[in-house]
Parts: sequence; C-alpha cells; structure tokens
Amino acid sequence: MHHLLNADLHSHSTLSDGTLEPEALARRAADNGVELWALTDHDELGGQARAAAAAQAAGIAWLGGVEISVTFAGETVHVVGLGVDAADAALQAGLARTREGRLQRAREMAEGLAKVGLKGAYEGALAYVHNPDLVARTHFARWLVDTGVCRDNGEVFRRYLVEGKPGYVPHRWAGLGETVRWIRGAGGVAVIAHPGRYKFTPTEEYALFSEFKAHGGEGVEVLTGSHGTADVTKYTQMAKEFDLAASRGSDFHGPGESRIDLGDLPDLPGGLQPVWERLQHRIRQPAPTA
Ligand code: AMP
Ligand code: MN
Ligand code: MN
Ligand code: MN
Repeated sequence: MHHLLNADLHSHSTLSDGTLEPEALARRAADNGVELWALTDHDELGGQARAAAAAQAAGIAWLGGVEISVTFAGETVHVVGLGVDAADAALQAGLARTREGRLQRAREMAEGLAKVGLKGAYEGALAYVHNPDLVARTHFARWLVDTGVCRDNGEVFRRYLVEGKPGYVPHRWAGLGETVRWIRGAGGVAVIAHPGRYKFTPTEEYALFSEFKAHGGEGVEVLTGSHGTADVTKYTQMAKEFDLAASRGSDFHGPGESRIDLGDLPDLPGGLQPVWERLQHRIRQPAPTA
C-alpha cells in the first residue's frame, strides 16, 4: 500500500544496458502501478522522446532522465539527472564525450578475457548491444552467462569484471562538477545514484557528498534496487545531514535480471523531501482519458 506517489526514477532500456525497449518499459511501469516514471539510460538521451511518448500512451506521468558515469576519487560514481531537457546542447555534448572510449575499453576488456581463455568476448558482447555507442560491462556479463561460463551477472562481475579481475579496464569518466553543471544547465536536479554500492572510506564518502552539494547537487537515492535496510537507514540520515532531497528508483534493467521490478519499492522513509517535489514544473502529466 503506497501512501506517497509510486515514483520510479531510475531504469534502463536498450538505449543503454537494459533489455527492454522504452515502450515496453513504460507499459511495464504502468502495469506495475508506477505513477511517475523516468528512463535513466547510462550517458545517453536517445530514448527520451520515445519514453515521453510511451508514458503518455500508458497514462503515466514522466520526467526526463539520465544516469551519468563519473570518476571521483579514482572510483566510478553514478549521478542521475532528473527533469533534464534532452534537447540541451551542453548536456548532449558532455554525454557524447563521456560515451567516447567505450568501444576501445570493450576491446581491451576482451583482450583481458582472452588471456584467461575466454576468446571472442568483443564480438560476443557486441551481439547484445543495441546502441553501438553504449557497450557496457553488462553486455559482457550477458554473453558470459549465455555461453555458460557463469551462472548469473553477479558471478560474472565478481570473477571477471571488477577491479583486479581479467576483464576489468580502468576508465576515466566525467568529472563530478561538470556533471552537476550539465544537469542543472538542462533544467534538472542531480541525484547521487545507489550510494550504498560504492567502496569508499567514510572520509571519501563524506567528500563525495560535500563536493556534490557544493557543486549544486540536490538529491540522493535512498531507495534503490541494490540497497538493503542498513543502506536505507544510513542514507536517510545522510540525506538529512546534507539537506538533500530523496529519490526512489528500482534501477530496473530487465525481467529476470533485476532484483527489484519497476515500481516495486516501499515508500520513502518519513522526514525526507521526495525529489519530485522539486521537479513539479518538469513533470509531464498524461493526457486526461476521455
Ligand atoms: P559500465 O558502465 O560499462 O562500467 O557498466 C556498469 C553497469 O554494470 C552498471 O550500470 C550495472 O548495470 C552493471 N553492474 C555493475 N556491477 C554489477 C554487479 N556486481 N552485478 C551485476 N551488474 C553490475
Ligand atoms: Mn547498468
Ligand atoms: Mn548505476
Ligand atoms: Mn542504473
């Protein structure tokens, strides 16, 4: 039973590393009771117009969205931009630059995997890619599962795709400050994605939140597919301490792959400002039905 709006502000389509097209995602969101939805493909706005139209057709409210890859303190951090205008030139240019190098990185990942006997990973992973600009580790994971090398994506990442493993290639993504500026410049609100997933020391994490806030960041995901109850408690506190609005998003990538389905999260804890309250003017409401 939801007392607040059932908002799902984090999801992926075939325009990045999700397995459903934007239209299928919108329908699934509506079927699952989502009332406000955002498609947040990695470093990519190519699905936004389709998502807006599909949300309209499915009768649900919609916000523009993107999930930007950032390098902070030598680690990859994800920043979700909500309410962004997909036509914004500076945001588009920043994302184009952030996407650059993904293909070269994929070739190097495949070389690393070949050294441990896994041949053909580049072609293998590319067969799962719909958007040639956006080959992600997820596509390698699907290939390694479907060829029987690993049982699931989690095993692939643990054995092959994280730091220190044969398919891991360090990569430099966008800067934190420029990312927040691109999002704000495009009319959006910047949100730290799934903070519970980063391997920061407390000092580094404090620096992330402080610098994010200083750059004009306004929100943090408190509820997301990868957060356990301890994470929810911790980031509820952090949101209050840093005066950040709270977001809620499944981070759905596809049926059978994501732990949490679209719309399948509890209400935000009390005492937090839902991030969508800061985005009322950016929400596209569905057309009233006749
Ligand atoms: P990339 O942007 O190419 O580095 O790929 C990052 C994506 O890999 C994330 O957005 C997730 O979809 C996926 N991913 C990262 N870590 C894991 C994990 N431990 N298990 C499953 N998927 C993961
Ligand atoms: Mn992903
Ligand atoms: Mn992410
Ligand atoms: Mn995501």
